[in-house]
Amino acid sequence: MGCAVSKPKVRGVPPAKTKPKPPPKPKNAPAPTPRPSKPPPGLESCKICGRNFAPDRLEKHETICAKSHAKDKKRKVFDPVKMRTKGTEAEKYIAKGKHLEAPPKPKKKDWKKQHEDFIATIRAAKSGTEPPPIDNSDYVTCPHCGRKFAEASAERHIPKCASIQSNKPRKR
Ligand SMILES: [Zn+2]
Ligand SMILES: [Zn+2]
Repeated sequence: MGCAVSKPKVRGVPPAKTKPKPPPKPKNAPAPTPRPSKPPPGLESCKICGRNFAPDRLEKHETICAKSHAKDKKRKVFDPVKMRTKGTEAEKYIAKGKHLEAPPKPKKKDWKKQHEDFIATIRAAKSGTEPPPIDNSDYVTCPHCGRKFAEASAERHIPKCASIQSNKPRKR
């Protein structure tokens, strides 16, 4: 053997640090195509379906192919929703074209419901524990100006108010 000579030891070189590997590049290798992109010699491929035809037949085929594909496409554009909802409740809904428009918000119903809720709340409040009335039960409303006064004040105010009503500024 004696091969130690051919491999001289290099001193002073630190052990190679593992460099962060660059992210794997996308493979440049051509992906296998399901269909040969190039038609065999003497043939041309239909742009629509990709099948190969002799040039003199291709023209005829493409006309037919385009027509049938156009039909297919048209039909398919309309179908998916129907296909998915076939036999479901949504089918009727979609048949009416309702899925095309956003469901209108029942504003009137909401308002009515709110009103009913409001009334119900009041009824509940009335039948149940009544909220303590604001402390004006012993307040007297002045028939002249509509203001409320404590009994003692009202007794003094009301006759006064009645006499000076004409002097009172209506707007304040
Ligand atoms: Zn075709
Ligand atoms: Zn008054």
